[in-house]
Amino acid sequence: MIDVLVIGGGPAGMGAALVAGRGRMEVVLIDDEKPRNAVTQESHAFLTRDGITPEDFRLAGRSDLLKYPNISVKPGRVKSIERKEDETFEVTTDAGEFIRTKNIVLATGLSETLPKVEDIEKYYGRSLFSCPFCDGWEMKEQPLVLIAETSQALHVVQLLTNWTDDLVVATNGLVVFDSEQKALLERNNIRLIEDTIRELKGSDGQLESVHFEGGEILERTGGFITTELKHPMPFIEQLDLEVSEAGFVVTNMMGQTNIPGIYAAGEITGPSQLIVSASQGHMAGIGIIAQASQANFNRI
Ligand SMILES: Cc1cc2nc3c(=O)[nH]c(=O)nc-3n(C[C@H](O)[C@H](O)[C@H](O)COP(=O)(O)OP(=O)(O)OC[C@H]3O[C@@H](n4cnc5c(N)ncnc54)[C@H](O)[C@@H]3O)c2cc1C
Repeated sequence: MIDVLVIGGGPAGMGAALVAGRGRMEVVLIDDEKPRNAVTQESHAFLTRDGITPEDFRLAGRSDLLKYPNISVKPGRVKSIERKEDETFEVTTDAGEFIRTKNIVLATGLSETLPKVEDIEKYYGRSLFSCPFCDGWEMKEQPLVLIAETSQALHVVQLLTNWTDDLVVATNGLVVFDSEQKALLERNNIRLIEDTIRELKGSDGQLESVHFEGGEILERTGGFITTELKHPMPFIEQLDLEVSEAGFVVTNMMGQTNIPGIYAAGEITGPSQLIVSASQGHMAGIGIIAQASQANFNRI
């Protein structure tokens, strides 16, 4: 029986493992190495690590963890979690391994679906991005497109006007805005194209133009997209975890979910950023240690 199983090895999972390990817990972190930001070339706005590649960020985190003999990191994917009568958990991996643990930190992040535009993945993370706070600075003052098929579109448009005053919004054949929102775009000098996108053109991931079915060619040096986000995992139903209206796992500020012993941190609790996810993992680690120390102390 281990003290803490951390599922997911992004900033949230590594933050939790580090704090729980330093609190002298026996910690195993299991990760299948498919983070949402793997497509990007540089990660921004993590204090002291601005501009680091996602890969180097992970390696730096792993080397912090591996200094502690009571923390181990394993490759693998967790398939199911069963809550036992004694309030511990039995976890099964895809490889058929069973792990018994007193606490779990769910730090599995989110998966996302990109707009339905052919070859868009060639540009995503290179000249098309989803988070203005992560990549807005690099795209500032450029002619940009926002490819938006989802209802977050207006919010992203508003944010992007902070970085450029040359923004065209393309909804790829969908009606995303109501008439009031369209009037608001017009008053802000933002052009809206509702025609379907035929193709994106550019080279090496650098966008040059957006081609529409109606024949228009829009020259752009990059832009942003809205994505559909979802959890890549079945644990929410297996454990009967409380989720918010938007579908994210609900926790208190120490990462504790409605199930004792189950903590959640990072983007499983809502779309986020590296430094926020790492700090949520940190808080979950503190939460686990505080809970265990209190229980041990009061038992005597
Ligand atoms: C294109 C792009 C660019 C970004 N740029 C920035 C940036 O510049 N700055 C910034 O602050 N943020 C950026 N972000 C956001 C940032 O990547 C996320 O906020 C952060 O990675 C979330 O951390 P996390 O630990 O919750 O999830 P993740 O980092 O996604 O890690 C989750 C891990 O859990 C693993 N996992 C999932 N399910 C299982 C399972 N069942 N068993 C085992 N492992 C599992 C996944 O494979 C993954 O390794 C960007 C995101 C994207 C998509």
